[in-house]
Amino acid sequence: MTQRVCLVHYHEIGLKGKNRATFENQLVKNLHRALRGQSVDSVKRVSGHILVSFASGQATDEQARIISQVPGVARVSLAYLCGLNQGEYCAAAVRALGEAGEFETFKVHARRSATTYELHTLDLHRLVGGVLCEAFPDKRVKMHDPDVTVMVLVVQGSVYVYAASRIGVGGLPVGTAGKVVTLLSSGFDSPVATWMVGRRGAVCVPVHFSGRPMTSDSSEWLCQDIVDALAPAGLIGRLYVVPFGEKQREISLAVPQSLRIITYRRVMLSVAEHIAELEGAKALVTGESLGQVASQTLDNIAAVNEVVSMPVLRPLIGSDKMEIMRRAEQIGTHDISSQAAEDCCTLFMPRRPETHARIDAVHEAWDAFDHDAMIEELVSTVEYRDWDYCPSYKPPKSLAAWHRELLPAHDLTS
Ligand code: ATP
Ligand code: MG
Repeated sequence: MTQRVCLVHYHEIGLKGKNRATFENQLVKNLHRALRGQSVDSVKRVSGHILVSFASGQATDEQARIISQVPGVARVSLAYLCGLNQGEYCAAAVRALGEAGEFETFKVHARRSATTYELHTLDLHRLVGGVLCEAFPDKRVKMHDPDVTVMVLVVQGSVYVYAASRIGVGGLPVGTAGKVVTLLSSGFDSPVATWMVGRRGAVCVPVHFSGRPMTSDSSEWLCQDIVDALAPAGLIGRLYVVPFGEKQREISLAVPQSLRIITYRRVMLSVAEHIAELEGAKALVTGESLGQVASQTLDNIAAVNEVVSMPVLRPLIGSDKMEIMRRAEQIGTHDISSQAAEDCCTLFMPRRPETHARIDAVHEAWDAFDHDAMIEELVSTVEYRDWDYCPSYKPPKSLAAWHRELLPAHDLTS
């Protein structure tokens, strides 16, 4: 029986010059990881595509679905892999068109890449088109904008035939854009923000601030579920958890009520920046969206931002909540985020938070407690858990000593 393979298409973006091989090799590595447990036979570069074949010889729609979730994949087609045998690839074209669902019009599009095959594209159009017209006498050929296009690719002694493709998430392969630390709550926004920078090729290291020991650890569990939900994209290797409850209590006693949130956020961003430095990450990421809540006005964003020198990326800054929720559904984090959990943000909340903080008042509040000592202590008590979803994640090696000092990973290891 003719083999069925997944033919992976990627955008030309980022593929110029020397980048191209790096991009393709990374995508091959990431696809291997995403397809663990699927009895992959090989994942290899083939003339501007990546070809994935399976031990069974019969790639499935489920395998194509897994591939479509990997950043860098623009489209994936379940293709018939034929030899240079006219009878075989014409029969494959009939099957591919037969599986394409409802349609009225079609065309054949043939492409040859670096081949000595005697038939040229026009010959292939005529040959395969003729066979399809006979097999589907009630359907029409339409050269411009047909319902279905049957692709016939002749590459290095093989012919790939397919008629339908699944849209992928696009973007760039994780591992081609450096590392970021993302501030992850269990809400809707920050998982989406994390996924978005991961989709642009960044390895993501989320940091979650929990209200423990003043709250339960339920938000920590939700964050772990979020990491699991994002597994198909392969962008997270480690989650850090910072038990923040005690320090929030200290802050709430030291600073005016209306400035509590801004002060918590300044501490959170500073701790995240320290972790980013230890991890060798180049930027921080938050799920902020302009004006969404009190802490996300321009004044307050600026008042928080000034404590760090690293770039803070806010991929959702111009997004509406509905758009974010739709994306959360698509990436599988929506239902996890809709479960209410106390985290550090629900702890010691002021009745009336400041929406347009005056910077001198913020500085006065900041100096009302030993913020440097607090930040240092929080960094030294951080806990973490590793996953093997992201082949490009490298834990900070030079920091072995620091890691040994970490508290045992608490209930996060179970
Ligand atoms: P989200 O849905 O991501 O929780 P939100 O709409 O609840 O966002 P805020 O709570 O103001 O908005 O949080 C703004 C951003 O601050 C979040 O998107 C996230 O990046 C960060 N953040 C908030 N709470 C936490 C937390 N407990 N741990 C880590 N980061 C947090
Ligand atoms: Mg939140």
